[in-house]
Amino acid sequence: MNIETVKTFQSLKTPFYYYDTALLRATLQSATQEANRHGFHLHYAVKANANPRILEIIQDYGIGADCVSGNEVARAVEYGFHPDRIVYAGVGKSDDEIRLALGKDIFCFNCESLPEIEVINTLAGELGKKASIALRVNPNVDAHTHHYITTGIEENKFGFYLYDLEHAIAVCRELENIRLIGLHFHIGSQITDLTVFRGLCLRVNEIQARLKEQGIILPHVNFGGGLGINYDCPSCGLIPDFASYFQTFADFFEAQPGQQLHFELGRSLVGQCGSLVSRVLYVKEGKHKKFVILDAGMNDLLRPALYQAFHRIENLTSIQPYEKYDIVGPICESSDCFGKDRELPATRRGDLIAIRSCGAYGEVMASRYNLRDLPGSFFPE
Ligand SMILES: *Cc1c(COP(=O)(O)O)cnc(C)c1O
Repeated sequence: MNIETVKTFQSLKTPFYYYDTALLRATLQSATQEANRHGFHLHYAVKANANPRILEIIQDYGIGADCVSGNEVARAVEYGFHPDRIVYAGVGKSDDEIRLALGKDIFCFNCESLPEIEVINTLAGELGKKASIALRVNPNVDAHTHHYITTGIEENKFGFYLYDLEHAIAVCRELENIRLIGLHFHIGSQITDLTVFRGLCLRVNEIQARLKEQGIILPHVNFGGGLGINYDCPSCGLIPDFASYFQTFADFFEAQPGQQLHFELGRSLVGQCGSLVSRVLYVKEGKHKKFVILDAGMNDLLRPALYQAFHRIENLTSIQPYEKYDIVGPICESSDCFGKDRELPATRRGDLIAIRSCGAYGEVMASRYNLRDLPGSFFPE
């Protein structure tokens, strides 16, 4: 962050999310360019960050939306995403949410169970519509990531198991108001090892080969999201390596003739453009430790408390020699801690602190716990 930007921060009420829109645009530019090279379709996972300004910028790149609630579908449409490019996933879609999405004529429902598909069939019939759906398949690929954010191995609530797949396809074909158009896979999040995606491609090839033997070829394959970002050193990897990511699918996935590939990226599109900016309220000196107490808490940024997530923390206003601190929030929970034993320039009351790589799963998860105000947001343009 340059000095001018930090100067403008001085007059703002903290804490707030700062979004580097130039970085966001450069990231979107790179992602769309690399996806277009292979003719792949991109959908932005709205759950990563649903800030209206962010949505407006993203839809401007012709990217679709991946939604996980009726309200996300409504908001995506409101801020300019074309319904033709909206996919809607989730294990527990309510009747009202399904009706809303049917009413907007979205591109595809990513479905996770037969009871859900039967309800979509009934509701579509009532509205005189035919719903396009894809089956979310649980491909049994280990994403080698945190167990809370792994979704692709067998024992969890997501998707159809492989042994159920053929039966599910047969049922879909009997339903009058359902048009089965694809398969959907999403194996987890914050995946930085591209061999995991290679493994996914190989598994999907096997699945497709098996289906093909029975004459089943579906026109769309959606590989979900999950590409990770560099939290340890944001500046080392401000823009994720989209070229290698998409190349992995081009190299290892055996697309059937005419088959279209879809991706639902969240974190990798918006993660690095956001920082949570906070003021130091107090520096408390203990016997063995010093604590920096911020005016931001776990209600503003939940990831460290929820997933023990690491975020780089920087003091934007001090140039003193480094000291070691625990950086904590004001909330009465011991998990309200952003970092332990972190080296920061000697820190005083009033200093501005940036918690980096907060563009994804930051502001969207903010709550009013303790009746605290929601964090604001600041865009340089
Ligand atoms: C969360 C989610 C995504 C986005 O994941 P990222 O790791 O942020 O890219 C994509 N698809 C589905 C179904 C999801 O649940």
